[in-house]
This record gives sequence, structure tokens and C-alpha cells, in this order.
Amino acid sequence: MTSSETRTQAFKSAPANCTALSVTVNGIVQGVGFRPFVYQLAASMGLKGTVANTATGVHIHAEGRPRDLEDFAVRLRTQAPPLSQITGINKIHAAYHGFSDFSIVASTSGHKRTALISPDVAVCSDCLAELYDPDDRRFAYPFINCTNCGPRYTIVEDIPYDRPKTSMKNFEMCADCLAEYKNPESRRFHAQANACPACGPGAWLVDSKGTRVLCKDPIEKAARLLKQGFIVAVKGLGGFHLAADAHDSAAVELLRNRKNRPAKPFAVMAADAAAVDAFAVMDEKEKALLESPGCPIVLLEKKSGARIAENVSPDNAYFGVMLAYTPLHSLLFSRGFGALVMTSGNLSGDPLVAENHEAEERLSGIADFFLLHDRGIHVRCDDSIVRRAAGGPVVLRRSRGYAPSPVFLDCRVSAILACGAELKNTVCLTRGKQAFVSQHTGDLKSPGTLDFFEKTIEHIKRITDTEPGFIACDMHPDYFATRYAKKQNHLTCIPVQHHHAHLVSCMAEHHLNGSVIGLAFDGTGYGTDETVWGGEVMVAQRAGFKRMAHLSYAAMPGGDAAVKEPWRMGLSYLIDAFGADWQNLELKFLRKISPENLRVVSEMISRRINSPLTSSMGRLFDSVSAIAGLCSRVDFEAQAAIKLEMQAAGSVLPLDKTCCYEYEIRETGGEIISIPPAPIIRGIVDDLLKGVFPGIVSKKFHTTIIFLFSDVCDRISRETGLKRVVLSGGVFQNPVLLEGMRESLRERGFSVFVNRRVPANDGGISLGQAVSAAARISGDACPDQDSKGL
Ligand code: ZN
Ligand code: ZN
Ligand code: FE
Repeated sequence: MTSSETRTQAFKSAPANCTALSVTVNGIVQGVGFRPFVYQLAASMGLKGTVANTATGVHIHAEGRPRDLEDFAVRLRTQAPPLSQITGINKIHAAYHGFSDFSIVASTSGHKRTALISPDVAVCSDCLAELYDPDDRRFAYPFINCTNCGPRYTIVEDIPYDRPKTSMKNFEMCADCLAEYKNPESRRFHAQANACPACGPGAWLVDSKGTRVLCKDPIEKAARLLKQGFIVAVKGLGGFHLAADAHDSAAVELLRNRKNRPAKPFAVMAADAAAVDAFAVMDEKEKALLESPGCPIVLLEKKSGARIAENVSPDNAYFGVMLAYTPLHSLLFSRGFGALVMTSGNLSGDPLVAENHEAEERLSGIADFFLLHDRGIHVRCDDSIVRRAAGGPVVLRRSRGYAPSPVFLDCRVSAILACGAELKNTVCLTRGKQAFVSQHTGDLKSPGTLDFFEKTIEHIKRITDTEPGFIACDMHPDYFATRYAKKQNHLTCIPVQHHHAHLVSCMAEHHLNGSVIGLAFDGTGYGTDETVWGGEVMVAQRAGFKRMAHLSYAAMPGGDAAVKEPWRMGLSYLIDAFGADWQNLELKFLRKISPENLRVVSEMISRRINSPLTSSMGRLFDSVSAIAGLCSRVDFEAQAAIKLEMQAAGSVLPLDKTCCYEYEIRETGGEIISIPPAPIIRGIVDDLLKGVFPGIVSKKFHTTIIFLFSDVCDRISRETGLKRVVLSGGVFQNPVLLEGMRESLRERGFSVFVNRRVPANDGGISLGQAVSAAARISGDACPDQDSKGL
């Protein structure tokens, strides 16, 4: 019997005007309340049938009038629960069975499991309402959650996502919780982390010696200690925070000293958007970002007169702000805090601390007290960081609340593991059309992070049920991630140039194929000529690139030392621009460096001793910051560039060619355009000697870079016909540069693409590596929708 015969037969036995539909929904549809939603939607429409989880998503069999079924299929998408992410709905006519009701039936299994694990989700408003209801059985219970909120990725040990495979496995549900768990009409139907005070995890407080603090309410006690100026380590969703009262500058200073973090801004947490309004400026879209289920840290402009201590975010126009995202946080805030510093609980450079004993060992020199709990964190996950720039959200760190949601690709690719770069490392594993970018693993220069890196790889492989056949890595021979990749002898290793990977990360996000013009403005990346690249213009495809232009090479006296001490780069560019005459320049910043240091380093530069060559845009920004007297030594990465950006952001000079320094674009006779910074440096020095304010100098410098590189894009476009420009690399985290560059290029008729889903910094490298490797494996065989290749 053919399928059409089956269908005809089925229609015959159906009551008049009744038919059946089989619907498969793919994407993030498990563990997010999707089946109860389907159940309630179908029941409210009078449809009969079943819904079940499958290995790949959710399957629905629905029976009813054709028009209702059509309507049902539309509403499945339009009214889907907030946490679900539908990647595909497939519907076909099905045989009519004559169901008498609609029900949720047991999961089917068998096939390879491709259902997606949801990221962790901030506590929802329904749960908060119960949390503060004295008559509710979960009144003031810090681990309240439901199918719409609570821990996910951080508690999952293996798939399928069921309680025995999470860190909740040791808590046996009480009769009440179990009843909710089994009831399709309950908000807690199949909520794997469901718990209550009778059966679930609990919280307690210990001092720095590990002695339990006797108290009735550990959260209330912790709040009181914070108000007295103590530092409390608070176990959260993805790891520990170090908390201090953000209004108490002495407490913040104490935290800075103990954490050995003199200047890098601390993130703050507030109870809700109304509380944030007291100290930061936000528009509706920023507020929405703050309140989104991923609950990231959002960079918001400081409000003048804010009562937050100055040393929370010194020399910076922004606060990194997040809302209380667990019930425990919420209870802490209910004791009346405007804002708390909530910075990652780790020693500088080390991964976030996640376990109780680890916290007591490693944070005992920092925290006075520890607010602990016994819900295990299986996978540590830092807070994500997002800002709005260039007309949309831009992710600066993609971690809790985002991982492990995949980035969806435009074509199926081989299973590739990409190992990422050295700093801000993430890894990426591809499966079909999905690229799973891991949470932030951190700085692989720190030995503590290496183990976390390998565990993260194993975990992603497990929860995606994917064994890679290829491994992609950076070209830098000394990166830990590269060495790791080369050791995996059973996998074909595909190295990808650092800045090319940056550009491809953005191409992958926007489903760009064919050739684009790419501006990769970055700190450090290994170039194919073994110099340090970072001010690069390329014509890039996913599989390869051609270097078209770059900043002229400058000496980096002392290598890494020049990154930590921007005055060295300042001197390097001065020597480049003025030769021996630099010694006659009456620049303030030179007076602050000892004559001996100046002599030694200038000699290193002139004689090329321990001075690798770089075309890095990050180093050029550093040097201008140093020359303008803003920053000679950094306490944290990119500090000098951030100080320069802050100065530019405060300037009212327009984005106009008349506000540029003179610049030069040099055809070197060969194919590559070289861009000498010397004329720009001379203009800057000229201004500074005339007493022009650093704010104006900085804005003019930004504007110069924007016009200069717009001109370079014009030239390349004339040669190649390319009209799409991709902007990536860590320097584009600077919104003055990002927005100016985008605006200028758009005015010249270019389509401009920027990173939004993954960071423009090295946190996005793994995605670029994976997609570039995939293109090389397939011979760039992805459907080329808009190729204007060379
Ligand atoms: Zn909830
Ligand atoms: Zn219970
Ligand atoms: Fe980079």
C-alpha cells in the first residue's frame, strides 16, 4: 500500500471535517517547558493527540479540523515558550487515529541524540512570586526553579537531560515535588532541578577557617556581614562570586588589594532594573538585555551623582551591571542593597572557582566568609558580558546563559573541534549546521586553566554526542591550544591564521559566503611571515585569505613587556616618526620614565634587540595612549586602549575628514599596501606640544583610523568589486571605533558586518577556526549565494 492510499483510507475513517497532522519540532525544545506548552495549546484549541520528546526534538500528533491544525502549527512557533529556540518545524499529514484527548506520552529514543541542552536561565517572575509568598511551601527557598528557569548547562553531566544525569541526582524528590514533576499542567512538569526545602539543596555560611557560622538564616547573616564591610564568597549558578557592598569604597578597596586587581572594573549586581536606574543610564533595549533570560553583565553608562564607590569602575565611563539572577541572589538583595560588587571568584588568571572545598582553599585569602550550598556545579560558567553598540547587542564574553546554545550555520559541516586562541579561550565543536561554542575557559597561559580547557572539550563532545574527525587551531606554535591540537594524532589538524579566524567568525555568524573585505584590528596574532599581526586588511573567503594591507611594522621592545608597558610602544613609534630627534621632544610622558629605561629601550628598538616586529592595531592604540600621557603601564589587558577610548567618547568633535591627522597609504610596489603610522604620530605630537587636550587628540586619532581604513576599503573595492566589509578583532570592542568605522563605510556604500553572537575578541576565534576548517575540508563547497570572488 502506498502512503497516499494510507492517507486516503485514514481520511475516510475520520469524522467529517477532521484530519491529522504529524509535526516535528527541532531546536532547543527540551527542558524549556515545550511539551506542557504544546499540551495546553492543543487542549485550549480542542485538538486531540499526543506530544513526546524524541532524540532530535519534539514530536506531535494532532487531530482536529484542518483550519485549526494549520492555526496550531503557526501558534507553535509564534507562542513558543520564551526559552525555546526553534530551528525547524516539519509537518506532514498523518493517519487519523481518533484520539479522545490530548496527552504527553513517554519519550521515544533510539536515534542519535541531537536535542539541544538549554543554557542556564535567570529565575522567572512566577518563581519570584512564590519565593516571597509566606504561604507558599517554597517561601524564601533559595533553590526554587521551574521549567522556565534555573540551572541547566551547569548541572548537566550527560545526555539525555534527565535528573539522574545532573548534579541534582543525589536529591530525591519528596512526594509534593514528584507530583508536580509528573503533572503536565504544573509549571514544574519534568523540571529536572525541581526541589523544595523538604527535599532539595540548602545553603549555609562558613568563616575563612571553614567553621560553620551558627545562624538561623545564612543569607540574612551574609547580608549583614556585607553591610559591615566584609567580603563574602557567594556560590552561584556557574561558580563563585566575590561580593562586597558597592557603596562601601573601603570594602571595594579591600577586595582589590586581596584579589591583586588594582584597577580593572568590577561587575556589580542589582536587584532589578529600577535599582539600576539609580546609578546607570539605560534605554529600553539595554533594559531588555539586562532582563533577558541569559541575564548577562551589560555595560551601561554611569549616571552622574551615582552613589556607587568610585573604585568599583575607576577611569571608566561604564558600569558592568547584571541583575540578581538566582533566587539566592534575590534573597540577598531583599535585605536592602542598592548594588553589590559581584566579581568572579578566582585568583587573577585562574578559572572560576566552582566547588565548596576549592573555594575554601583558593579564596580563603580573599573572602572573610563563604555562603555555600550543596547543589553541585558540574560545569563552571562565568557571567557573560554584553553591550549595545552599532545598532544592536554585541557579546564581549559568551558564557553563562548563552553556552551551550549553538551558533547556527548556513550549511552542514564536518565534525570539527576548534581549539581557539590563548587568551579569552573558548573551544568550538561543529555538528551538522550547528557550531557549539563553549563557555569562556579563560587564559591558557595560566596552568589552572589548562585542565578546565580539556574538561570543557570532553564535556561538549559528550553533551553533543559528537566525535570530531578534524581539529582546527591557531598558527601560533607556542599556544597551549595549538600544542593540544597537534597532540591529537588521530585527527587531521588544520591550522587557521588568527586574523583570518576573526574575520570568518563574523562571516559565519552572518552566513556570508564568497569574498569579503575584512578589517581585523587586534592585539596580537601570529602572522604567516612569523611577525605579530594585528592591523590587517584582507580579502577573505571562509577557506582562505589574501593580505591586502597592514600597518607598517614597528618594533615591540621586549616583546610581551611592550604589551604590559605601553610607554615602550610609545617610544617605538616616536623613534619611527622622528628618528633620533625624539630626544628633543618635550612630551610629558617621557619625563615620567627614567632616563636609564629610555636609553635601554631606545637602544633595543634601534638595534632590534629582543624587539619582534608588529603590525598590531592594539599596540598602535597603546602607543597613542602612552604618548598622550594617559597610560604608561597597564594593570589589565587593553587598559591603555580603554583609557584612550574614554577620552574620545567624551569629545564632541564630529566624525569628519577635517578632524583627521594627515595620513599616508603607501603602495610598496608589491601587492600589499603599507600604512605608516609615522605621519599620524607626528600630528599627534604636534597637537600635544601645542597643549591640545588628550580628549581631542584621541578623537582625532580615532577619526583618522576610520577615514584611513575607509579609503583603503575604497581602493580594494575598486580593484575587486567587493562591497561587503567585515569588522572583527579585539580592538573593535571599542564602540567609538566600531560605530565610526561602520558609519563611514556605510556612507561609502559598503554593507558592514560586525560580530554580535560571538565576541570580536579572541573568544570568537574558535568559531572562525571551525568554519574556516570546514570550508577547506569541503573545498568551500557551501552554496555560494552572493559570490563576487576575485
Ligand atoms: Zn521559574
Ligand atoms: Zn520537595
Ligand atoms: Fe585576536
